[in-house]
Amino acid sequence: MREDTRRWIEKDKRHCWHPFTRQGEWCAEGHEPLVITGGDGVWLMDSEGRRYFDGNSSIWTNVHGHGRREIGEAVREQLERVSHVSFLGQTHPAAIELAGRLCGFFPRGTLDRVFFSDNGSTAVECALKMSLQYRQQTGEGERCGFVSFANGYHGDTLGAASLGGVGRFFDRFRGAGYPVRFVRDLLELRGLGREESGGVSAVVVEPLVQGVNGMRLWPAGMLAELRAWCDAEGVHLILDEVMTGFGRTGTMFACEREGVVPDFLCLAKGLTGGTLPLAATLTREGIYEAFLGGAERAFYYGHSYTAHPAGCAAALASLDLFEGGRLLERVVERAGQMAEGLVRIAGHGLVREVRQCGLIAGIELCGPGGEAFPPESRVGERFCFGARRHGLLTRPILDTVVLMPPLCVSGEELDFSLDAVWKTLEEGILEG
Ligand SMILES: *Cc1c(COP(=O)(O)O)cnc(C)c1O
Repeated sequence: MREDTRRWIEKDKRHCWHPFTRQGEWCAEGHEPLVITGGDGVWLMDSEGRRYFDGNSSIWTNVHGHGRREIGEAVREQLERVSHVSFLGQTHPAAIELAGRLCGFFPRGTLDRVFFSDNGSTAVECALKMSLQYRQQTGEGERCGFVSFANGYHGDTLGAASLGGVGRFFDRFRGAGYPVRFVRDLLELRGLGREESGGVSAVVVEPLVQGVNGMRLWPAGMLAELRAWCDAEGVHLILDEVMTGFGRTGTMFACEREGVVPDFLCLAKGLTGGTLPLAATLTREGIYEAFLGGAERAFYYGHSYTAHPAGCAAALASLDLFEGGRLLERVVERAGQMAEGLVRIAGHGLVREVRQCGLIAGIELCGPGGEAFPPESRVGERFCFGARRHGLLTRPILDTVVLMPPLCVSGEELDFSLDAVWKTLEEGILEG
């Protein structure tokens, strides 16, 4: 190991605390975390000079590859002009332009307002608070709860976490957040009595695919039916497109696939092309108007870095890259190629099921007899560790391996990643 690497790892173990991480194992003697020091397109380089395919788009964020010159230049120019503007009391051109561009993706008179924040969790927090405050200000104060789906994920801040249906993450804090009724599916939602649905302010859902739930797909048509239920019951529809937004599923936004416009749309991860933290909550003018009037009607919410100019500049540059390169057409092409490649993988004896939506894939592993592994065997983690030797870097969700390349991936690069998955499977990494 190089001297630099050794020093960085040693210091990390002394001072850093990593998310979703068993720190005891992280800091153990034998654990050598990768120290990433460079990126170029779909590739990441570590401090030992090794190169890896970024198989989960740097935790589902990266769109145009690492080190994209156009985004870097836009950010540098913005920082040199003015590095921060408080959106509380002032405004600035990059945020103004970006808000207009985001609304421009939707028919006029639908989503015409943008509220900026910093990350996916805060984008959801804003939608929740806006929905509740709207109810209070329109004489519907009895609508003070939410409906969320089992196994859904909407972020880690307290409000967003209370909507999370992943027990292993959130059960510890149950009762501390919003009142939430969890349902498994539309059937259960429709079974709610009038009394119960009358107390619901909004339903929150990840459209098309539940990311943290091992990339599980909703049945086709689910979203449109959910929209219809919300309309019939007078309930807001909050779409959490933090993962699915910005081309990941093959259309700019997943909701387009079923012709649905939500009441709130939450965007983050890919908004800046996956370069800087920035989030946006879009909503309807009709909802916004309930916040006009006296001081008591204002939306008292914001962060120091709301609408950060560098983030907005990155987002504008990212949107330009979508338009310039016919990126979405290429995503659809690549997704077709991925589907073909996944057929062979799905046929492997150690794969239970493969799920795919656009350039998002979940490969669920199983034992040779099709049996699920006991959780303590941590097969998904071991698989991903083994895949590194074939130049693939990714993370599992339990025993589901995520393959979600940056959207700029070439055909050859995509084949490389599928091949790395195959080789790892062939090594029988799951045994022992
Ligand atoms: C990642 C994610 C979030 C949370 O976003 P952060 O930026 O990590 O706070 C919320 N919802 C979905 C669907 C996500 O994938």
